[in-house]
Amino acid sequence: MRLSSKLPDVGTTIFTVMSRLADETGAINLSQGFPGFDPPEALTDRIHWHLTNGGNQYAPMDGTPALRQVIADKNLFFQGRSLDVDTEITVCAGATEGLFSAISAVVHPGDEVIVLDPAYDSYEPAVRLSGGIARHVPLRIDDNGHDFHPDWQRIGDAINRKTRLLVLNFPHNPTGAVLAEDDLDTLADLIRDTRCLLVADEVYEHIVFDGEAHRSLLSHDELWERSLVISSFGKTVHATGWKIGYCAAPPELTEEFRRVHQFTTFSVSSPMQHGLADYLGSHPGWCRDLPAFYEHKRDLFCKLLEDSRFRLRPARSTFFQILDYGGISDEIDESLAKRWTREIGVASIPLTVFCETPFTGTRLRFCFGKDDATLEAAAERLCRL
Ligand code: PMP
Ligand code: GLN
Repeated sequence: MRLSSKLPDVGTTIFTVMSRLADETGAINLSQGFPGFDPPEALTDRIHWHLTNGGNQYAPMDGTPALRQVIADKNLFFQGRSLDVDTEITVCAGATEGLFSAISAVVHPGDEVIVLDPAYDSYEPAVRLSGGIARHVPLRIDDNGHDFHPDWQRIGDAINRKTRLLVLNFPHNPTGAVLAEDDLDTLADLIRDTRCLLVADEVYEHIVFDGEAHRSLLSHDELWERSLVISSFGKTVHATGWKIGYCAAPPELTEEFRRVHQFTTFSVSSPMQHGLADYLGSHPGWCRDLPAFYEHKRDLFCKLLEDSRFRLRPARSTFFQILDYGGISDEIDESLAKRWTREIGVASIPLTVFCETPFTGTRLRFCFGKDDATLEAAAERLCRL
């Protein structure tokens, strides 16, 4: 039987490709982004308690009331927005499902969706499966070659009558870019008289460094009215394998989101939701301590690379450090990442795979969310280059 693929040009994700190669070669895996340490024991204890005390049947479609309350409390504390737990928050199967359901809920055939390159790899397939057309606008790189920022002029130029959605991802994977204070007002001015909605992928909301603020779309009254804000507990509690996330959106958009969510997953793991609600409800300081925790990792990794031939600017957010290898090689990033995994024993992620337009950069992404000994061993190998 001949199948006509709906995504004929989509291969296996680079995260799977690089993690698999790291496993096969025994390389230190700084490619796919996942923490090299466990979630807090007090959290896993609570999950275990629910696993053995009847917390195993379907959770409500929109999420357990206790977890939705924790999400509301967290967003009130960090973003100053009071969310209605019944009509504005939906727990979903990680940010990946949240993004897919959000995009599917609002994009109609022929709609245009703007994504900013380098763009996380799950956005465009979701757009295309809904019959939408992805328009790629590159982030602007400053003259120093390190700082990435939305190019509002080009984004404004790309918006037209067909534009249904702009997908934002700040704090940004892979570049670590964060929004500046006036960006949200600039964006509001750009889309005020358009039909453009916003999907904000904010999974790194709690990992921003050097005292900078995370500027969530939740914090802006006008933008909030047209936003679906997606986040995930994967990065926040060191448990990327649990796949628990959420979508916060005003009632009308939440209604549309739930129409899709109820048929993609219906509801997500109940013992995880119960345990997360117990733990985060009784440890409100957890998210506040995360930036310092990861800033230490970033500083260590950058310091260890001081004598290397890589050029870098310490990441402003996320747990990814971009290293510019232009002083070492001019090989295409994807083939170099694979070769260094085999030959040097350190796996990384190339950036060009996240870009539609030909991209001449010499940059690789390394995950520093690992224990200090792993970072030291990786840096020692990288310094030999
Ligand atoms: N968006 C971005 C920018 C990510 O880096 C990731 C992966 N951590 C996701 C979405 C997916 O998150 P989740 O694992 O919760 O599905
Ligand atoms: N978000 C993770 C990263 O950027 C990977 C998630 C995945 O493997 N799908 O590395």
